[in-house]
Amino acid sequence: MIGTSYRCEICGEESETPVRWFVIHCGTAELTVIKWTKEAADAPHARHYCGEAHAQVYISRWFEAFCG
Ligand SMILES: [Zn+2]
Repeated sequence: MIGTSYRCEICGEESETPVRWFVIHCGTAELTVIKWTKEAADAPHARHYCGEAHAQVYISRWFEAFCG
């Protein structure tokens, strides 16, 4: 069985065993940042980021889209 590979949405880095990655669950009214767990990462609509900096990029975009 092939392991699931995850891809950072910002830089495109791929890993089958992410360490210190973050998962973001995003809705129109709510954005949730979660320390990496397989359960969170495999949830529908989960977004994956290779580290804090790239999670921040997405969070900034979200603020601009909904608060700008
Ligand atoms: Zn990245």
